[in-house]
Amino acid sequence: MSSEWLIPLSDLDYDVHESEAVTRVLKSKWLSMGQEVQDFEKEFAEYVGVKHAFAVANGTAALHLAFLASRLGPGDEIIQPALNFVATANMTIAMGCTPVFADICDLSEPTVDPQEVQRCITSKSRAIVVMHYGGYPCRMAEIYDIAKRHGLIVIEDACHAVGARYVGGDEGSLPARMVGNLGDIACFSFFSNKNIAIGEGGMITTGRDDVADQIRQLRSHGMTTLTWDRHRGHASSYDVLHHGYNYRLDELRAALGREQLKKLNANNHRRAVLVSAYRRRLSPLPGWVVPFAHWQEDSSYHLMTAIAPHVDTRQRVVQSLRESRIQTSLHYPSVVNFTAFARYKTRSLPVSEAFSQRVITLPLFPTLTLDQVDLVCDCINGARI
Ligand SMILES: *Cc1c(COP(=O)(O)O)cnc(C)c1O
Repeated sequence: MSSEWLIPLSDLDYDVHESEAVTRVLKSKWLSMGQEVQDFEKEFAEYVGVKHAFAVANGTAALHLAFLASRLGPGDEIIQPALNFVATANMTIAMGCTPVFADICDLSEPTVDPQEVQRCITSKSRAIVVMHYGGYPCRMAEIYDIAKRHGLIVIEDACHAVGARYVGGDEGSLPARMVGNLGDIACFSFFSNKNIAIGEGGMITTGRDDVADQIRQLRSHGMTTLTWDRHRGHASSYDVLHHGYNYRLDELRAALGREQLKKLNANNHRRAVLVSAYRRRLSPLPGWVVPFAHWQEDSSYHLMTAIAPHVDTRQRVVQSLRESRIQTSLHYPSVVNFTAFARYKTRSLPVSEAFSQRVITLPLFPTLTLDQVDLVCDCINGARI
């Protein structure tokens, strides 16, 4: 993936530990629903400080299970940011629900604006999905208060934010906690470019016992007992209580996830150092905005983004970086600008639109060097005028 680029957008931090983890599973000859998955779930739950964690096939499956376990259905409206990966919106449609898109706070704080969430509420509103963009926690105290007032379920799309910590709201209504423990349910992705990378995989966390029971069954065909229990002689028959899915994670990927979780704090810290270096170089550029530039709290530093002064500047800089074999990306086009979602654009979303047109995602991964950060910034500086 990275060979054609001098500096890729992201890269894996894999070494002998990951190889040994996979070999351990291969030697065990037990590939799914086993000890690795159970240990990964236990270790992840402890890390986040949440009661329940379920390993799943990917982040999108986690979102689908979160909606199913929340008993959402046709006619229900799910409020969500327009600036997001399309998975939340797609799973909203899969449930027969209607997405209601809210704008973000500001170019410098591109997470969902609580005042916008308030404006989106109707008699059909049932849930709010927040997305901790780039690994920076949303304004959860305000969102939590709105949700409580209107009886809405809060689901965290925490795919960017494993290891991030929320330090508490102004009103003090929500204490400091890890992301993944800030709402009713949270969804994580372990796709190849995420802070925990295992190829395809995800995790769903909740502090609610009723939701946990639903997720446990829905993840595995709605069955009451699992292969692993029957293998160990704990059960020999099962019933099917719900119309479930197969959204399980296998042992190989769970073993990779456990190794990646061990490296997470050090790797997120390394990302923070690199982001500081980027900020020092990019924040002074006239007309440019560096999102979260003054952020003091614990982020997972998943993305390094910069907002160009104009669309044209963005094009010129991206082109110049490409010529220097430096890979960039765009997180994200506003969801309502996709053909399949055009009919859900019922409100104006000026901040999300401006952000989408001008944002550049720059290389960021734990094995990136400070010299490489300088190279990227030199290139931007040369091309911006
Ligand atoms: C990666 C990602 C997803 C989807 O996760 P998959 O594991 O690819 O299904 C959803 N939301 C956000 C914000 C993401 O970054």
